[in-house]
Amino acid sequence: MSRVLKSSAVITQKFKGIGKHNGVDLVGEGHTTCPVIAHSAGTVEMAVTGHRNDPNATGDATYGNFVKIKHSNGYATLYAHLDRVFVSKGQTVDAGQEIGFMGSTGRSSGAHLHFEVRKNGTYNSIMDPEPFLNADLPGLSTGDRDYKIVLDWQKCMNRVYNCGLAEDNNYGPDSQAKANQYQLYYRSGNVIKNDMVRWVQQRLKNLGYNITVDRSYGPSTDNIVRQFQASRGLKADGYVGRDTYRELLKD
Ligand SMILES: [Zn+2]
Repeated sequence: MSRVLKSSAVITQKFKGIGKHNGVDLVGEGHTTCPVIAHSAGTVEMAVTGHRNDPNATGDATYGNFVKIKHSNGYATLYAHLDRVFVSKGQTVDAGQEIGFMGSTGRSSGAHLHFEVRKNGTYNSIMDPEPFLNADLPGLSTGDRDYKIVLDWQKCMNRVYNCGLAEDNNYGPDSQAKANQYQLYYRSGNVIKNDMVRWVQQRLKNLGYNITVDRSYGPSTDNIVRQFQASRGLKADGYVGRDTYRELLKD
């Protein structure tokens, strides 16, 4: 999957200065829309939703749905015109973590990502983000740019089930065995509620499914899991175990 802010992103409009064009506009490889990832690790300072496309928008509404992330070096990055936002205010994110899906909300004439870098987080500190598209922000180490989906899943498994899974970012025999041991499924009158369900729902949402992320494995999640399984050539039985996790963990 192509994800913007990787080297495959295509620039459609460059930075022209504060008040002219404050950032750089990007689309995915082959001019496609795709998930948008956090440039660097940080804390979500703003996560604005509820906007549609509006050619007459003014002020912050020009950004439509957007995310602003504060980084430990004092810089902030901003991601605008999102169709969907996957994070909420106050949440910490890893570099490379999917934070939303590209769109055309706010004052925008087509789906793209408008990306900004702000040196001390404020409007008057906006700078040309292009040099940072494939480089770290000053004072943030390369390690901060390395979100690993399997590792994220392993950490979540350990948090929820306390199952002693090695956190090695490898979907190997131990991971697969634990995936089966703790598999998720829905049976009438037995709704599972935990953060592992949330992880699965968020992953399906990031993959484009219209799913509510509510930590509840009920009939509607069961239905969407079955759709996902069918689309990947798996038995559509609604059981999230070894093979379904394998497909969910593909980048
Ligand atoms: Zn722009």
